[in-house]
Amino acid sequence: MAPARILILGGGFGGLTAAHELHRLAGDRVDLLVVDASPTFLMGLRKLWMLDGRGSRTEGTRDRVRIAGGAIPFRQGQVEAIDLAARQVAVDGDRLAYDYLIVALGAQPRPDLVPGGVEGAANLYTADDAEALGPKLAAFTRGRIVIAIAGLPYKCPPAPYEAAFLIDDLLRRRGRRDSVEIEVLTPQPMSLPVAGPAACARVEGTMTLRQIGFRPKSTVARVEARQVVLADGSTIPGDLVIFVPAHRPPAVIKESGLASGGEWVRPDPGTLATAAAGVFAIGDVTEIPMPGGTTLPKAGVFAERQAEVVARNIAAIVAGRESDARFDGRGYCFIELGEGQASMIDGAFLADPPDITVLKPAPEHLAAKVAFERERLQRWFG
Ligand SMILES: Cc1cc2nc3c(=O)[nH]c(=O)nc-3n(C[C@H](O)[C@H](O)[C@H](O)COP(=O)(O)OP(=O)(O)OC[C@H]3O[C@@H](n4cnc5c(N)ncnc54)[C@H](O)[C@@H]3O)c2cc1C
Repeated sequence: MAPARILILGGGFGGLTAAHELHRLAGDRVDLLVVDASPTFLMGLRKLWMLDGRGSRTEGTRDRVRIAGGAIPFRQGQVEAIDLAARQVAVDGDRLAYDYLIVALGAQPRPDLVPGGVEGAANLYTADDAEALGPKLAAFTRGRIVIAIAGLPYKCPPAPYEAAFLIDDLLRRRGRRDSVEIEVLTPQPMSLPVAGPAACARVEGTMTLRQIGFRPKSTVARVEARQVVLADGSTIPGDLVIFVPAHRPPAVIKESGLASGGEWVRPDPGTLATAAAGVFAIGDVTEIPMPGGTTLPKAGVFAERQAEVVARNIAAIVAGRESDARFDGRGYCFIELGEGQASMIDGAFLADPPDITVLKPAPEHLAAKVAFERERLQRWFG
């Protein structure tokens, strides 16, 4: 029998994990192709290490042609259209046919959605801006640093707070903290609503201890190089303004009809199957409701676990077996606190009510975060 054609759109956390798991579980039964617009992979968390100079962009970058040491085929190209009826995807003008499609196209930071976002302040979520912030922070001697969450949703909810803690730590180590104010703004009522009150208490308590200002319920109307304008007309001055824009799925999601009314894909939360035959959606491109009315945070660990479920189920189908693999919403994330420490949030995010624990800050959690990147780069690229 001819191998099943499996097209994986997106070579990030979700796409890379799905490709590897299918390669491992289904071998010759599948004909895999990973498509991504970008020839290289870089993990989001490394952007934080570029701020305080602990890690360079180059160290964390891998060529996607080297997925599984080159054993899993990769095509660099723009996914322009998904034809669900014909089971074909248009990539740079070519039409690629599939038997099974895994959509892992992620969530795009959209600075264009905040006035001033394209030209003014530094976008923490682009590698270019994060890299440029490193030397600026190293040379920063006095003034105000503002970190503004400028829209929702955004991926890795703790990351803007981690940036504040790492900048605080950097300035303390250089003896400059007394002459610098740091403030974080968010439109949300608390720092990490999705992780619950204990996680918020940890983050906000640490901000108070470190004298980092916190302004919840602040809706950003405009970001500029030296100030943030709020929706109520007030202005927050900054000598360095860093922002995180709202995220949206790539346009091809809505255009293909996969968005089912809203903007994001809402697959079955257990199997990640969409309403379209043979099509699964995983990771940041999805919106998975959580008990309590919020949605699952956009994080690599969830993309990865969802990818494992989809890979197991597809591998079973092509082998003519039953599979009952289901995504259970379990996951964790690190919160770097500076001073060589990290905390961890761990739990069952889809339990009713969500069952989430916040682990005490410890150097071990920071070591686990460093290992998190190293192990995945090794596993995915060899
Ligand atoms: C600063 C920061 C820190 C983070 N820290 C953590 C952490 O500690 N732990 C954690 O679990 N997560 C973390 N994350 C979040 C994590 O990076 C994302 O949640 C994860 O990458 C989502 O995986 P994904 O596969 O859904 O999408 P992505 O990894 O974003 O992959 C999507 C891919 O699709 C490609 N693509 C999109 N549109 C197209 C198109 N039209 N054609 C072709 N290709 C396209 C993109 O180029 C991209 O490579 C962090 C993120 C940031 C920004």
